[in-house]
Amino acid sequence: MIYLDYNATTPLDSRVFEAMAPYMKERWGNPSSPYSFGNEARIAVEKARRSVARQLGCKPPEVIFTSCGTEADNLAVRGVANALRHRGNHIVTTAVEHHAVLNTCRALENQGYRVSYVPVESDGAVRIGNVEKNLSPDTILITIMHANNETGVIQPVEEIAALARKRKIVFHTDAVQTAGKSLSPSCELGADLISFSAHKFYGPKGAGGLFVRQGTPLDPLLTGGPHERNLRAGTENVAAIVGLSEALALASESAGSESGRLQKLRDRFETRIKSAVPRVKINGASAPRVPNTSSLTFDSVDGESIVLGLDLRGIYVSTGSACSTGDPAPSHVLLAMGLSPKEAQGSIRISLGKHVREEDIDTVVQALTDTVTRLRGISSIETTRVPSS
Ligand code: PLP
Repeated sequence: MIYLDYNATTPLDSRVFEAMAPYMKERWGNPSSPYSFGNEARIAVEKARRSVARQLGCKPPEVIFTSCGTEADNLAVRGVANALRHRGNHIVTTAVEHHAVLNTCRALENQGYRVSYVPVESDGAVRIGNVEKNLSPDTILITIMHANNETGVIQPVEEIAALARKRKIVFHTDAVQTAGKSLSPSCELGADLISFSAHKFYGPKGAGGLFVRQGTPLDPLLTGGPHERNLRAGTENVAAIVGLSEALALASESAGSESGRLQKLRDRFETRIKSAVPRVKINGASAPRVPNTSSLTFDSVDGESIVLGLDLRGIYVSTGSACSTGDPAPSHVLLAMGLSPKEAQGSIRISLGKHVREEDIDTVVQALTDTVTRLRGISSIETTRVPSS
């Protein structure tokens, strides 16, 4: 098989698995237990927290472990909204956020908050002026992602952070697609809250985290015991936390060299597909992008059919976000960039990772060319058969 959907998830690194295994097999104590067996687990959690804090350049108590990126996003957005309700009810985000943020904002609108969805340009990036225009005295939170999961487009988060600081507004960034990669976020970005998720950087699924800058107002979503500085009650998933920290440490060792390699592969793919297939467009190509992602729109073909056609050849790509699979609606990200619903539906995403080789790219270009040509043939037959009315 050739797997080209690393933005959806990545395989677990075997070294990460080795680091996790003892906490599932032998050292399965509860970190909150008072005896030494529990303490072994507590030591592992706190060691993991120190290691993640080192990678993010922050203090260990500023790292809160969660069950996934979605939970980290929910904790950030709902947590600030609840904590600052007395100060205002306005939230600023963009039209291209992941559903973990977008649907959380929509749910908050139902609770009486006001949300502004800043538009993006046709290249997929927001302009800082448009963010600023949407701020008002009752704005309590700006939440804008670091890099988009569908297009790879990078948002100007350092500028947004500076603006938020100047206006004394809390700033959250969803860095699920950059953490553990070349653009791995650090607290130097200036954001007050940063979400990340282990399964995007060869760690386990069901492990995420949130950087919470000291002093940031935040209410918990889960109430119960005093875990995670009272911000996330529940017995810690020790093995998953150990796995997350190991994966992040390993990823940061190789991020620099790997990103150059992925960019070369991505560029090779885009150059070859553009010359092999007519009427194809690369979305977000003129904006800064993470090196592993390519979003392509093929004229007169359905993206879902391309994905299924490639699947038959053992090649795995997606139409967009994995969380939207099964949803027939066209991608909200591509629509926000000005694509028509038909164009958005003719789009696929490929996202590269560490097991992809140059020969895989060439195989995929050939398979994609064949698939699109065949589908265009069928669709033109169907079009001629449809009687005009
Ligand atoms: N945010 C972004 C940008 C993502 O790409 C994803 C997952 O695809 C998430 C949040 C959700 O992360 P998780 O799958 O860990 O819940």
